[in-house]
Amino acid sequence: MINQSYIPKRVMVIAAHPDDIEFSCAGTIARWVKAGVEVCYILCTSGDVGIADPAITKEEAARIREAEQIEAAAVLGVSNVVFLREPDGMVEATIQLRKRLVREIRKFRPDTVICGDPQVLWAGDGYINHPDHRATALAAVDAIFPAAGQPTLFKELEAEGLTAHKPYKVYIEAWDEKGTTFINISETIDLKIAALKAHKSQMKDWDPSDGVRKWAAERAKGKEMEYAEAFRVVTFEDAAPKAETTSAASEGTG
Ligand SMILES: [Zn+2]
Repeated sequence: MINQSYIPKRVMVIAAHPDDIEFSCAGTIARWVKAGVEVCYILCTSGDVGIADPAITKEEAARIREAEQIEAAAVLGVSNVVFLREPDGMVEATIQLRKRLVREIRKFRPDTVICGDPQVLWAGDGYINHPDHRATALAAVDAIFPAAGQPTLFKELEAEGLTAHKPYKVYIEAWDEKGTTFINISETIDLKIAALKAHKSQMKDWDPSDGVRKWAAERAKGKEMEYAEAFRVVTFEDAAPKAETTSAASEGTG
């Protein structure tokens, strides 16, 4: 539970599909937005193959899902949503995608980035992690470090007014025992559920309320909180924001 009450200033969330952020970290985002944190979402795809209806084209599906994502973000108070429009179902952790993510990092200049765990292939006995999740997570991690902070890598981005930027912390979504930092989302779990419900094309008749509460309660087990989201946090001390180097270490476990 180290640093679980750390409050960043600028947070970027990098995800593969519309609804990934709502499943993984929306409770944390809602908590941070309430604390005045600036948040930006980067969606690598627009979920264009995520509607299994032959009457709906991929282009229409993308439009529907981008609108749902914008609505879901608004539920939490997030208005900065960027769609990279990589093809859904075909995301690869290429140098090109790394560069696109470096561009966004250098533009928004987050102190904290949230992304998936590229090492998660299985979760339990009933799920194989989506290849887009793995590829996006790998591209994100590789963009965050060391690429975004290297001034002579992707130097051509300087022509867009973008210079190197190294984030301070990376919150990697933890699916199981790998979590080291647990954010108390007891006060924001209703917002998380409401944000998920904005993805109508994905929820269909399923009410996410019970499932989300069950998963968040599992994460919180034994941690003096009712509901939690779990992360593994990487901290680059040399990129610590100047004024915060002393206060962050002395915060309690909240
Ligand atoms: Zn997904």
